[in-house]
Amino acid sequence: MRIAKPSKKVIDSFPKEISDFYLSHAKKSYEVINSSKIQKFIEEILRIEDIDEKKIIDVRIMIFPCVVDSDSTSGIFNHDIGQISIYPSFFHDNKKSIPKCLMNFDNPDLEVIITIKTFQTFVHEILHLKYKNEDDIEVLTDKYTAKLCKTMCYF
Ligand SMILES: [Zn+2]
Repeated sequence: MRIAKPSKKVIDSFPKEISDFYLSHAKKSYEVINSSKIQKFIEEILRIEDIDEKKIIDVRIMIFPCVVDSDSTSGIFNHDIGQISIYPSFFHDNKKSIPKCLMNFDNPDLEVIITIKTFQTFVHEILHLKYKNEDDIEVLTDKYTAKLCKTMCYF
């Protein structure tokens, strides 16, 4: 589990407040995935789904979004090397910018949003070890997210 190191060129391609936001966002996502509560939850999912955790070799928290054909991706699982990459939940470019209210780390809602989105992406990618059908994965991810929200008393 690590936070990916982007090149200075990539960092500089964003306005400073945006790259600062993404850096803080990545730290938060990293904390989420590393927290004992979430770790326990993930372990339980792996057990219920009978997924071998040894197939997950590397988990990277990516600082900046991944944009393919003007669509942003939340996660990528490279099965050949057992590597999961988790991208930020918010996307910024010239046409669309992140709402200011969401860039405030004092906002408790932001923490909840990042926790849920990071968890969802991670669980989605883990489920790809067992399932191929995106619809099946979405249904299960929603089920586990609802369980998480209940456990964390979010809603
Ligand atoms: Zn998928």
